[in-house]
Amino acid sequence: MQKIVVVGGGYAGLGAMGPLLKLEDVELVLIEPGTGHQLIPELPEALAKHGSIENHVVPYDKLLADTRVTHIRQYATNFDLTRKLVFLDNSEQVSYDWLILSPGSEPSLPPIPGLREVAHTLRDAQDARGIKDALKYGKEQRVAVIGGGLTGVEVAGMLAEDHDVILVEAFSRLLPALGLGLSQYAYRRLIAGGATIVLGQKLMRVKPPRIELEKDHYEYDVLIWAGGITPPQWIRYTPLPLDERGYPKANPYGEVLPQVFVAGDLWHVVVDGEEIPATAQLAALAGDFVGSTIANRIAKGTPGPDFRPRLRGMLISLDEGQGVGWVLHGGIPIRGFSARTLKNMSFQQYRLKLSKIFDRPWPL
Ligand SMILES: Cc1cc2nc3c(=O)[nH]c(=O)nc-3n(C[C@H](O)[C@H](O)[C@H](O)COP(=O)(O)OP(=O)(O)OC[C@H]3O[C@@H](n4cnc5c(N)ncnc54)[C@H](O)[C@@H]3O)c2cc1C
Repeated sequence: MQKIVVVGGGYAGLGAMGPLLKLEDVELVLIEPGTGHQLIPELPEALAKHGSIENHVVPYDKLLADTRVTHIRQYATNFDLTRKLVFLDNSEQVSYDWLILSPGSEPSLPPIPGLREVAHTLRDAQDARGIKDALKYGKEQRVAVIGGGLTGVEVAGMLAEDHDVILVEAFSRLLPALGLGLSQYAYRRLIAGGATIVLGQKLMRVKPPRIELEKDHYEYDVLIWAGGITPPQWIRYTPLPLDERGYPKANPYGEVLPQVFVAGDLWHVVVDGEEIPATAQLAALAGDFVGSTIANRIAKGTPGPDFRPRLRGMLISLDEGQGVGWVLHGGIPIRGFSARTLKNMSFQQYRLKLSKIFDRPWPL
């Protein structure tokens, strides 16, 4: 019987389970330290005054009970790729025939003086709890958000109603992944929502209670860093072949070494020379793809086609009622209430997909 081990039960890891659960006569193991699957794209919503983090975490017990998946609640720490072993942080080891690595990513914190000591990041539910604990939900509290990409814009938008928010972006506009018109729309909505936006200035230094930018400086009470992601540090200490940025070098099937795959944020996906941004949507597609590839190889001996993700869109919340982004392949721009509604629908669709993969009653 083939043993398939998945490291990380996020969008990619659980996505891989779909095709793998259809295989008979395989052993499925999930190595995942958490008690619940965190719906990370929903976490900015949880930061709003009446938001609850628990509403955005699906307990693994609920998903995996009575399935063929064995959940080992530990961190993976390293691998022996010759003996096909995963080492765990309790010093135990787990053998595998097929390995899927989907432990997500970490916030990338550059060596800006003072930043690490005081900045909150938002990468998981624990980070969200830390931020919520620091928030007072009053306009007298100034929250500085650094980074005007997807995470920074969503966080600034959610907090602006109840705080004095300042959003800082080094580039000359917000949301560089979107077209100019959509990025200007996001800018206007955030300003109308009460946020202050500073564009074209890098953060140089943090000297509490001040952030010092290239030209200006501002006082803050809570500082949130939303400046990008990087592969998990521990991956650097494993024998996996890595590129210069620390991503495992994978072929178009996500295969790094024979029968060792990556999926999700850890797979730096490039299709026809174009880098595909790491998102939950891509992670879920990549997980499903890698799971199908392994299922095909086990059942038919051939892997099937290589990975060509068809993204359904990119939607960004600007506050509790407005959003911006694009939908459908080719990119139809969308803004306002309809963008926000579609984003909410995409969250529900994802939950529906989970309930189908694990054959759970709806709603989850
Ligand atoms: C604030 C925020 C908002 C976002 N909004 C959107 C959005 O609107 N739309 C969108 O598509 N994307 C969004 N993203 C990006 C999206 O969340 C990620 O791309 C996605 O979660 C990646 O999925 P993954 O499966 O690779 O990793 P994750 O979903 O992060 O899952 C990784 C799992 O691995 C586990 N793990 C970590 N280390 C280990 C280890 N050593 N051993 C075992 N398990 C481990 C973790 O506990 C976790 O459960 C957002 C991200 C953030 C931070």
